[in-house]
Amino acid sequence: MKDEIFDVVVIGAGFAGITAARELKNHGYKVVVLEARDRIGGRVWTSELEGHKVELGATWIHWFQPYIWAEFMRSELTLHEDPFLPPITVWVEGTPQELEFDRFREILQDVWGRFAGDTELGHLMEQPYEFERLAERSSLDEITIQDKIGELGLSPLEEAVFAAEISVQTNAPPENVSYLSQLRWWSASGWDVGLMVDCLARYKTNEGNSALIEKMAARAKLDIRLDSPVRSVDQTDALTVIATRDGRRFTSKRVVCALPMNCIKSVEFNPPLGQEKMSLSQEEHAAKGMKVLFTTEGEPEGHAIVAPPGATLNLLNPIREEGSTRIYVGFGTDGTAFDPKNLDEVNHVLADLHPELKATASTGHDWSNDEFSLGTWHMPRPGQNVGVEQAFAEAEGKVHFAGDYLAKGWVGFMDGAIESGFLVADEIHKAFEDKS
Ligand SMILES: Cc1cc2nc3c(=O)[nH]c(=O)nc-3n(C[C@H](O)[C@H](O)[C@H](O)COP(=O)(O)OP(=O)(O)OC[C@H]3O[C@@H](n4cnc5c(N)ncnc54)[C@H](O)[C@@H]3O)c2cc1C
Repeated sequence: MKDEIFDVVVIGAGFAGITAARELKNHGYKVVVLEARDRIGGRVWTSELEGHKVELGATWIHWFQPYIWAEFMRSELTLHEDPFLPPITVWVEGTPQELEFDRFREILQDVWGRFAGDTELGHLMEQPYEFERLAERSSLDEITIQDKIGELGLSPLEEAVFAAEISVQTNAPPENVSYLSQLRWWSASGWDVGLMVDCLARYKTNEGNSALIEKMAARAKLDIRLDSPVRSVDQTDALTVIATRDGRRFTSKRVVCALPMNCIKSVEFNPPLGQEKMSLSQEEHAAKGMKVLFTTEGEPEGHAIVAPPGATLNLLNPIREEGSTRIYVGFGTDGTAFDPKNLDEVNHVLADLHPELKATASTGHDWSNDEFSLGTWHMPRPGQNVGVEQAFAEAEGKVHFAGDYLAKGWVGFMDGAIESGFLVADEIHKAFEDKS
Protein backbone atom coordinates (compact mmCIF):
# COMPACT_ATOMS: atom_id res chain seq x y z
CA MET A 1 0.00 0.00 0.00
CA LYS A 2 1.38 3.43 -0.95
CA ASP A 3 1.73 6.21 1.66
CA GLU A 4 -0.78 9.04 1.37
CA ILE A 5 1.01 12.39 1.37
CA PHE A 6 -0.19 15.54 3.19
CA ASP A 7 1.19 18.85 4.42
CA VAL A 8 -0.22 18.20 7.89
CA VAL A 9 -1.65 15.13 9.62
CA VAL A 10 -3.85 15.94 12.62
CA ILE A 11 -4.22 13.12 15.14
CA GLY A 12 -7.52 13.33 17.04
CA ALA A 13 -10.88 14.83 16.01
CA GLY A 14 -11.91 16.60 19.20
CA PHE A 15 -12.38 20.37 19.29
CA ALA A 16 -8.60 20.93 19.33
CA GLY A 17 -7.91 18.75 16.28
CA ILE A 18 -10.91 19.93 14.25
CA THR A 19 -10.07 23.59 14.89
CA ALA A 20 -6.41 23.10 13.97
CA ALA A 21 -7.37 21.20 10.79
CA ARG A 22 -9.89 23.86 9.74
CA GLU A 23 -7.46 26.74 10.29
CA LEU A 24 -4.64 24.97 8.43
CA LYS A 25 -6.94 24.07 5.58
CA ASN A 26 -8.06 27.70 5.39
CA HIS A 27 -4.38 28.60 4.94
CA GLY A 28 -4.37 26.33 1.90
CA TYR A 29 -2.55 23.29 3.29
CA LYS A 30 -3.48 19.71 2.46
CA VAL A 31 -4.67 18.28 5.77
CA VAL A 32 -6.07 14.96 6.97
CA VAL A 33 -7.50 14.15 10.41
CA LEU A 34 -6.99 10.65 11.81
CA GLU A 35 -9.55 9.76 14.47
CA ALA A 36 -9.55 6.53 16.49
CA ARG A 37 -13.30 6.40 17.14
CA ASP A 38 -16.20 5.92 14.72
CA ARG A 39 -17.31 9.51 15.36
CA ILE A 40 -15.73 12.93 15.79
CA GLY A 41 -16.02 15.00 19.00
CA GLY A 42 -13.88 13.02 21.44
CA ARG A 43 -15.03 13.99 24.91
CA VAL A 44 -18.02 15.73 23.32
CA TRP A 45 -20.76 13.18 22.71
CA THR A 46 -24.45 14.00 22.44
CA SER A 47 -26.61 10.95 23.00
CA GLU A 48 -30.21 10.08 23.90
CA LEU A 49 -31.89 8.83 27.03
CA GLU A 50 -35.43 7.60 26.47
CA GLY A 51 -35.74 9.97 23.50
CA HIS A 52 -34.34 12.98 25.40
CA LYS A 53 -31.11 14.58 24.21
CA VAL A 54 -28.28 14.31 26.77
CA GLU A 55 -24.56 15.10 26.78
CA LEU A 56 -22.43 12.19 27.95
CA GLY A 57 -19.38 14.46 27.91
CA ALA A 58 -19.02 18.24 27.70
CA THR A 59 -22.24 20.20 28.12
CA TRP A 60 -22.19 23.87 29.11
CA ILE A 61 -20.85 26.93 27.33
CA HIS A 62 -20.78 30.64 28.19
CA TRP A 63 -19.99 33.96 26.52
CA PHE A 64 -17.09 34.34 28.98
CA GLN A 65 -15.53 31.47 27.03
CA PRO A 66 -14.61 33.36 23.87
CA TYR A 67 -13.54 30.55 21.54
CA ILE A 68 -16.49 28.20 22.01
CA TRP A 69 -18.85 31.16 22.06
CA ALA A 70 -17.58 32.34 18.68
CA GLU A 71 -18.19 28.85 17.26
CA PHE A 72 -21.65 28.78 18.78
CA MET A 73 -22.53 32.17 17.25
CA ARG A 74 -21.43 30.97 13.82
CA SER A 75 -23.24 27.65 14.13
CA GLU A 76 -26.90 28.78 13.98
CA LEU A 77 -27.60 26.45 16.90
CA THR A 78 -29.84 27.64 19.74
CA LEU A 79 -29.26 28.10 23.45
CA HIS A 80 -31.02 26.42 26.36
CA GLU A 81 -30.81 27.67 29.93
CA ASP A 82 -30.68 25.04 32.66
CA PRO A 83 -32.73 26.20 35.63
CA PHE A 84 -31.20 27.16 38.95
CA LEU A 85 -31.19 24.61 41.68
CA PRO A 86 -34.38 24.15 43.71
CA PRO A 87 -34.02 24.04 47.53
CA ILE A 88 -31.00 21.90 48.19
CA THR A 89 -30.48 18.97 50.49
CA VAL A 90 -26.95 19.26 51.86
CA TRP A 91 -25.42 16.33 53.68
CA VAL A 92 -23.63 17.76 56.72
CA GLU A 93 -21.73 15.27 58.90
CA GLY A 94 -24.05 12.45 57.88
CA THR A 95 -27.32 14.38 58.30
CA PRO A 96 -29.41 15.93 55.50
CA GLN A 97 -30.15 19.65 55.85
CA GLU A 98 -32.43 21.79 53.62
CA LEU A 99 -30.92 24.99 52.22
CA GLU A 100 -32.45 27.65 49.97
CA PHE A 101 -30.41 28.27 46.83
CA ASP A 102 -29.62 31.88 47.81
CA ARG A 103 -28.13 30.73 51.11
CA PHE A 104 -26.16 28.01 49.33
CA ARG A 105 -24.71 30.61 46.95
CA GLU A 106 -23.93 32.99 49.84
CA ILE A 107 -21.87 30.28 51.55
CA LEU A 108 -20.05 29.49 48.32
CA GLN A 109 -19.30 33.16 47.70
CA ASP A 110 -17.92 33.64 51.18
CA VAL A 111 -15.78 30.50 51.24
CA TRP A 112 -14.47 31.04 47.70
CA GLY A 113 -13.40 34.52 48.78
CA ARG A 114 -11.38 33.00 51.62
CA PHE A 115 -10.11 30.10 49.50
CA ALA A 116 -8.79 32.30 46.70
CA GLY A 117 -9.19 35.97 47.39
CA ASP A 118 -6.65 36.49 50.14
CA THR A 119 -3.75 35.03 48.23
CA GLU A 120 -2.81 38.19 46.39
CA LEU A 121 -4.20 36.48 43.38
CA GLY A 122 -6.10 39.55 42.45
CA HIS A 123 -2.61 40.71 41.49
CA LEU A 124 -0.98 37.44 40.60
CA MET A 125 -3.70 36.25 38.27
CA GLU A 126 -5.36 39.49 37.42
CA GLN A 127 -5.39 38.39 33.79
CA PRO A 128 -6.21 34.70 33.35
CA TYR A 129 -4.33 34.53 30.05
CA GLU A 130 -1.00 35.49 31.66
CA PHE A 131 -0.05 31.88 31.07
CA GLU A 132 3.62 32.69 30.53
CA ARG A 133 3.81 33.77 34.15
CA LEU A 134 2.56 30.48 35.55
CA ALA A 135 6.06 29.47 36.61
CA GLU A 136 6.05 32.38 39.06
CA ARG A 137 3.15 30.67 40.75
CA SER A 138 4.78 27.28 41.19
CA SER A 139 4.32 27.41 44.98
CA LEU A 140 0.55 27.64 44.43
CA ASP A 141 0.75 24.78 41.97
CA GLU A 142 2.52 22.51 44.46
CA ILE A 143 -0.19 22.57 47.12
CA THR A 144 -3.44 20.67 46.86
CA ILE A 145 -6.99 21.89 47.15
CA GLN A 146 -7.33 19.76 50.27
CA ASP A 147 -4.27 21.48 51.82
CA LYS A 148 -5.90 24.85 51.26
CA ILE A 149 -9.32 23.78 52.55
CA GLY A 150 -7.58 22.52 55.67
CA GLU A 151 -6.22 26.04 56.36
CA LEU A 152 -9.61 27.74 56.25
CA GLY A 153 -11.19 26.55 59.51
CA LEU A 154 -14.58 25.94 57.89
CA SER A 155 -17.74 25.15 59.86
CA PRO A 156 -19.29 21.74 59.08
CA LEU A 157 -21.96 23.38 56.85
CA GLU A 158 -19.38 25.52 55.00
CA GLU A 159 -17.16 22.52 54.53
CA ALA A 160 -20.05 20.39 53.24
CA VAL A 161 -21.14 23.01 50.69
CA PHE A 162 -17.72 24.06 49.50
CA ALA A 163 -16.00 20.67 49.45
CA ALA A 164 -18.93 19.18 47.54
CA GLU A 165 -18.96 21.98 44.98
CA ILE A 166 -15.22 21.86 44.44
CA SER A 167 -15.29 18.08 44.07
CA VAL A 168 -17.82 18.50 41.28
CA GLN A 169 -15.54 21.02 39.58
CA THR A 170 -12.41 18.89 39.90
CA ASN A 171 -14.09 15.51 39.20
CA ALA A 172 -11.33 14.11 41.40
CA PRO A 173 -10.62 13.91 45.13
CA PRO A 174 -9.44 17.37 46.33
CA GLU A 175 -6.20 15.86 47.67
CA ASN A 176 -5.17 14.95 44.10
CA VAL A 177 -5.68 18.37 42.51
CA SER A 178 -3.45 21.43 42.34
CA TYR A 179 -4.77 24.51 44.13
CA LEU A 180 -3.72 26.61 41.12
CA SER A 181 -6.02 24.59 38.83
CA GLN A 182 -9.11 26.01 40.48
CA LEU A 183 -7.65 29.50 40.80
CA ARG A 184 -7.30 29.57 37.03
CA TRP A 185 -11.04 28.88 36.64
CA TRP A 186 -11.84 31.51 39.25
CA SER A 187 -9.69 34.06 37.47
CA ALA A 188 -11.22 33.19 34.07
CA SER A 189 -14.69 33.81 35.58
CA GLY A 190 -13.83 37.34 36.69
CA TRP A 191 -13.32 36.43 40.37
CA ASP A 192 -17.04 35.98 40.87
CA VAL A 193 -18.74 32.82 42.15
CA GLY A 194 -22.10 33.54 40.51
CA LEU A 195 -20.40 34.04 37.19
CA MET A 196 -18.25 30.97 37.67
CA VAL A 197 -21.29 28.78 38.36
CA ASP A 198 -22.95 30.25 35.26
CA CYS A 199 -19.83 29.60 33.17
CA LEU A 200 -19.68 26.01 34.36
CA ALA A 201 -23.27 24.85 34.29
CA ARG A 202 -26.02 27.13 33.04
CA TYR A 203 -26.18 27.42 29.24
CA LYS A 204 -25.99 24.71 26.62
CA THR A 205 -27.06 24.18 23.03
CA ASN A 206 -30.46 22.61 22.36
CA GLU A 207 -29.09 20.62 19.46
CA GLY A 208 -26.07 19.28 21.38
CA ASN A 209 -22.33 19.82 21.24
CA SER A 210 -21.84 16.99 18.75
CA ALA A 211 -23.94 19.03 16.30
CA LEU A 212 -21.66 22.01 16.94
CA ILE A 213 -18.42 20.21 16.14
CA GLU A 214 -19.98 18.34 13.22
CA LYS A 215 -20.99 21.69 11.72
CA MET A 216 -17.45 22.99 12.10
CA ALA A 217 -16.04 19.95 10.32
CA ALA A 218 -18.68 19.92 7.58
CA ARG A 219 -18.35 23.61 6.78
CA ALA A 220 -14.58 23.28 6.46
CA LYS A 221 -15.06 20.15 4.30
CA LEU A 222 -12.35 18.39 6.27
CA ASP A 223 -10.86 15.09 5.19
CA ILE A 224 -11.46 12.97 8.31
CA ARG A 225 -10.63 9.28 8.54
CA LEU A 226 -12.65 7.63 11.31
CA ASP A 227 -11.73 4.27 12.86
CA SER A 228 -8.07 5.20 12.43
CA PRO A 229 -6.28 4.86 15.76
CA VAL A 230 -2.69 5.98 15.33
CA ARG A 231 -0.05 3.52 16.44
CA SER A 232 3.20 5.36 15.69
CA VAL A 233 4.79 8.58 14.50
CA ASP A 234 8.26 8.31 12.93
CA GLN A 235 10.18 11.49 12.25
CA THR A 236 13.01 11.86 9.78
CA ASP A 237 14.72 15.10 8.79
CA ALA A 238 12.37 15.72 5.88
CA LEU A 239 9.10 13.94 6.56
CA THR A 240 7.03 12.27 9.22
CA VAL A 241 5.36 8.90 8.78
CA ILE A 242 2.19 8.27 10.76
CA ALA A 243 0.97 4.67 10.93
CA THR A 244 -2.46 3.50 12.06
CA ARG A 245 -2.94 0.30 14.03
CA ASP A 246 -4.30 -1.43 10.93
CA GLY A 247 -1.12 -0.63 8.98
CA ARG A 248 -2.12 2.37 6.84
CA ARG A 249 0.63 4.97 6.46
CA PHE A 250 0.37 8.72 6.00
CA THR A 251 3.32 10.98 5.24
CA SER A 252 3.39 14.67 6.13
CA LYS A 253 5.68 17.64 6.71
CA ARG A 254 4.10 18.47 10.06
CA VAL A 255 1.91 16.67 12.61
CA VAL A 256 -0.61 18.00 15.14
CA CYS A 257 -0.93 15.65 18.09
CA ALA A 258 -4.39 16.61 19.38
CA LEU A 259 -4.81 13.75 21.85
CA PRO A 260 -5.81 14.13 25.49
CA MET A 261 -2.63 14.47 27.59
CA ASN A 262 -3.38 11.13 29.26
CA CYS A 263 -3.39 9.34 25.86
CA ILE A 264 -0.12 10.63 24.38
CA LYS A 265 1.78 7.75 25.97
CA SER A 266 -0.17 5.19 23.93
CA VAL A 267 1.38 6.37 20.64
CA GLU A 268 4.90 5.25 19.83
CA PHE A 269 7.05 8.23 18.82
CA ASN A 270 10.40 7.71 17.07
CA PRO A 271 12.60 9.36 18.19
CA PRO A 272 10.86 9.19 21.57
CA LEU A 273 9.17 12.29 22.94
CA GLY A 274 11.02 14.29 25.58
CA GLN A 275 10.99 12.79 29.04
CA GLU A 276 8.95 15.66 30.54
CA LYS A 277 6.10 15.19 28.08
CA MET A 278 6.06 11.43 28.56
CA SER A 279 6.19 11.70 32.35
CA LEU A 280 3.17 14.01 32.39
CA SER A 281 1.21 11.65 30.16
CA GLN A 282 2.19 8.69 32.31
CA GLU A 283 1.39 10.48 35.56
CA GLU A 284 -1.97 11.58 34.01
CA HIS A 285 -4.20 14.44 35.10
CA ALA A 286 -6.44 13.75 38.06
CA ALA A 287 -10.01 13.79 36.74
CA LYS A 288 -11.43 10.29 36.49
CA GLY A 289 -14.81 10.95 37.97
CA MET A 290 -18.43 10.09 37.30
CA LYS A 291 -21.12 11.80 35.28
CA VAL A 292 -24.51 10.09 35.36
CA LEU A 293 -27.71 11.16 33.63
CA PHE A 294 -31.06 9.76 34.65
CA THR A 295 -34.78 10.39 34.34
CA THR A 296 -37.60 10.33 36.88
CA GLU A 297 -41.31 10.18 36.10
CA GLY A 298 -44.14 12.19 37.63
CA GLU A 299 -42.24 13.72 40.53
CA PRO A 300 -44.13 16.68 42.05
CA GLU A 301 -40.84 18.56 42.47
CA GLY A 302 -37.14 18.04 41.76
CA HIS A 303 -34.46 17.33 44.32
CA ALA A 304 -31.05 18.98 44.31
CA ILE A 305 -28.59 17.17 46.53
CA VAL A 306 -25.08 18.04 47.64
CA ALA A 307 -22.84 15.57 49.45
CA PRO A 308 -19.21 15.95 50.57
CA PRO A 309 -16.08 14.19 49.23
CA GLY A 310 -16.26 10.49 49.96
CA ALA A 311 -19.93 10.27 48.89
CA THR A 312 -20.56 8.33 45.69
CA LEU A 313 -22.12 11.44 44.12
CA ASN A 314 -21.33 14.99 45.24
CA LEU A 315 -24.06 16.76 43.30
CA LEU A 316 -27.42 15.84 41.83
CA ASN A 317 -29.33 18.47 39.93
CA PRO A 318 -32.59 18.33 37.96
CA ILE A 319 -31.67 20.12 34.73
CA ARG A 320 -34.68 19.73 32.49
CA GLU A 321 -38.37 18.86 32.47
CA GLU A 322 -40.02 17.42 29.41
CA GLY A 323 -43.69 16.53 30.02
CA SER A 324 -43.85 14.37 33.13
CA THR A 325 -40.19 13.41 32.79
CA ARG A 326 -37.45 15.13 34.75
CA ILE A 327 -33.82 14.76 33.64
CA TYR A 328 -31.08 14.82 36.26
CA VAL A 329 -27.34 15.06 36.08
CA GLY A 330 -25.03 13.81 38.82
CA PHE A 331 -21.28 14.06 39.39
CA GLY A 332 -18.88 12.16 41.67
CA THR A 333 -15.13 11.82 41.98
CA ASP A 334 -14.87 8.07 41.33
CA GLY A 335 -15.81 7.04 37.79
CA THR A 336 -15.72 3.35 38.77
CA ALA A 337 -18.01 3.62 41.81
CA PHE A 338 -21.00 2.23 39.87
CA ASP A 339 -22.16 1.65 36.31
CA PRO A 340 -24.26 4.65 35.22
CA LYS A 341 -26.03 2.48 32.64
CA ASN A 342 -27.17 -0.04 35.23
CA LEU A 343 -30.49 1.23 36.61
CA ASP A 344 -30.37 -0.97 39.72
CA GLU A 345 -26.92 0.31 40.62
CA VAL A 346 -28.00 3.90 40.00
CA ASN A 347 -31.08 3.50 42.22
CA HIS A 348 -28.97 1.90 44.92
CA VAL A 349 -26.79 5.05 44.98
CA LEU A 350 -29.80 7.39 44.86
CA ALA A 351 -31.50 5.63 47.77
CA ASP A 352 -28.63 6.68 50.03
CA LEU A 353 -29.04 10.32 49.00
CA HIS A 354 -32.82 10.79 49.05
CA PRO A 355 -35.57 8.29 49.93
CA GLU A 356 -37.99 9.63 47.28
CA LEU A 357 -35.60 9.72 44.37
CA LYS A 358 -36.07 6.84 41.92
CA ALA A 359 -34.62 6.76 38.43
CA THR A 360 -36.64 5.29 35.56
CA ALA A 361 -33.75 5.21 33.05
CA SER A 362 -30.07 6.15 33.21
CA THR A 363 -26.93 6.50 31.14
CA GLY A 364 -23.31 7.68 31.17
CA HIS A 365 -19.94 6.80 29.72
CA ASP A 366 -16.85 5.40 31.39
CA TRP A 367 -14.42 8.07 30.14
CA SER A 368 -11.65 6.96 32.47
CA ASN A 369 -11.40 3.43 31.13
CA ASP A 370 -12.01 4.53 27.55
CA GLU A 371 -8.55 4.15 25.99
CA PHE A 372 -9.11 7.22 23.81
CA SER A 373 -9.74 9.62 26.70
CA LEU A 374 -8.39 8.00 29.92
CA GLY A 375 -10.14 10.63 32.00
CA THR A 376 -12.77 13.34 31.92
CA TRP A 377 -11.91 17.06 31.72
CA HIS A 378 -8.24 17.97 32.14
CA MET A 379 -7.56 18.62 35.84
CA PRO A 380 -3.91 19.21 36.79
CA ARG A 381 -2.38 17.42 39.75
CA PRO A 382 0.04 19.36 41.96
CA GLY A 383 2.87 20.74 39.83
CA GLN A 384 1.17 19.97 36.52
CA ASN A 385 0.02 23.50 35.61
CA VAL A 386 3.60 24.71 35.51
CA GLY A 387 4.86 21.30 34.35
CA VAL A 388 2.65 21.30 31.25
CA GLU A 389 3.57 24.87 30.40
CA GLN A 390 7.27 24.03 30.51
CA ALA A 391 7.16 20.58 28.91
CA PHE A 392 4.92 21.51 25.99
CA ALA A 393 6.30 25.00 25.28
CA GLU A 394 8.16 23.65 22.25
CA ALA A 395 7.12 21.40 19.39
CA GLU A 396 8.99 18.11 19.27
CA GLY A 397 10.69 18.30 15.90
CA LYS A 398 7.83 18.31 13.37
CA VAL A 399 5.25 17.23 15.94
CA HIS A 400 3.14 20.04 17.45
CA PHE A 401 0.64 19.69 20.29
CA ALA A 402 -2.92 20.85 20.90
CA GLY A 403 -5.60 19.97 23.43
CA ASP A 404 -7.62 21.29 26.36
CA TYR A 405 -4.59 20.78 28.64
CA LEU A 406 -2.61 23.43 26.71
CA ALA A 407 -5.17 26.23 27.03
CA LYS A 408 -3.89 29.49 28.34
CA GLY A 409 -7.42 30.43 29.46
CA TRP A 410 -10.08 27.77 30.02
CA VAL A 411 -7.91 24.75 30.67
CA GLY A 412 -10.00 21.56 30.65
CA PHE A 413 -12.85 23.04 28.60
CA MET A 414 -14.07 22.91 25.00
CA ASP A 415 -13.10 26.58 24.86
CA GLY A 416 -9.52 25.78 25.79
CA ALA A 417 -9.33 22.97 23.24
CA ILE A 418 -10.42 25.36 20.46
CA GLU A 419 -7.97 28.02 21.68
CA SER A 420 -5.11 25.53 21.44
CA GLY A 421 -6.26 24.47 17.96
CA PHE A 422 -6.03 28.06 16.73
CA LEU A 423 -2.61 28.59 18.27
CA VAL A 424 -1.09 25.37 16.96
CA ALA A 425 -2.32 26.16 13.44
CA ASP A 426 -0.58 29.56 13.64
CA GLU A 427 2.60 27.89 14.92
CA ILE A 428 2.66 25.50 11.94
CA HIS A 429 1.74 28.18 9.40
CA LYS A 430 4.63 30.29 10.71
CA ALA A 431 7.02 27.34 10.48
CA PHE A 432 6.01 26.79 6.83
CA GLU A 433 6.36 30.49 6.04
CA ASP A 434 9.77 30.74 7.72
CA LYS A 435 10.94 27.87 5.56
CA SER A 436 9.76 29.33 2.24
C1 LIG B 1 -18.03 14.06 31.45
C2 LIG B 1 -17.42 15.33 30.89
C3 LIG B 1 -18.04 16.55 31.12
C4 LIG B 1 -17.48 17.73 30.61
N1 LIG B 1 -18.15 18.93 30.77
C5 LIG B 1 -17.70 20.03 30.11
C6 LIG B 1 -18.50 21.21 30.04
O1 LIG B 1 -19.63 21.25 30.54
N2 LIG B 1 -18.00 22.28 29.35
C7 LIG B 1 -16.77 22.25 28.72
O2 LIG B 1 -16.37 23.23 28.09
N3 LIG B 1 -16.01 21.12 28.78
C8 LIG B 1 -16.44 20.03 29.44
N4 LIG B 1 -15.71 18.87 29.41
C9 LIG B 1 -14.34 18.91 28.85
C10 LIG B 1 -14.32 18.87 27.32
O3 LIG B 1 -15.01 17.74 26.85
C11 LIG B 1 -12.87 18.80 26.86
O4 LIG B 1 -12.09 19.79 27.50
C12 LIG B 1 -12.71 19.00 25.36
O5 LIG B 1 -13.75 18.40 24.63
C13 LIG B 1 -11.35 18.44 24.95
O6 LIG B 1 -11.15 18.54 23.55
P1 LIG B 1 -9.80 17.97 22.96
O7 LIG B 1 -9.90 18.13 21.49
O8 LIG B 1 -8.65 18.58 23.66
O9 LIG B 1 -9.78 16.43 23.36
P2 LIG B 1 -10.79 15.24 22.96
O10 LIG B 1 -12.16 15.76 22.79
O11 LIG B 1 -10.58 14.16 23.93
O12 LIG B 1 -10.25 14.81 21.51
C14 LIG B 1 -9.14 13.97 21.35
C15 LIG B 1 -9.45 12.99 20.22
O13 LIG B 1 -8.32 12.13 20.04
C16 LIG B 1 -8.81 10.83 19.72
N5 LIG B 1 -7.77 9.84 19.96
C17 LIG B 1 -7.30 9.35 21.14
N6 LIG B 1 -6.30 8.48 20.92
C18 LIG B 1 -6.13 8.41 19.58
C19 LIG B 1 -5.23 7.69 18.71
N7 LIG B 1 -4.30 6.84 19.18
N8 LIG B 1 -5.33 7.88 17.38
C20 LIG B 1 -6.25 8.74 16.84
N9 LIG B 1 -7.12 9.43 17.61
C21 LIG B 1 -7.06 9.27 18.97
C22 LIG B 1 -10.02 10.69 20.62
O14 LIG B 1 -10.88 9.67 20.18
C23 LIG B 1 -10.63 12.08 20.52
O15 LIG B 1 -11.58 12.17 19.47
C24 LIG B 1 -16.25 17.67 29.89
C25 LIG B 1 -15.65 16.43 29.66
C26 LIG B 1 -16.22 15.27 30.15
C27 LIG B 1 -15.58 13.94 29.85
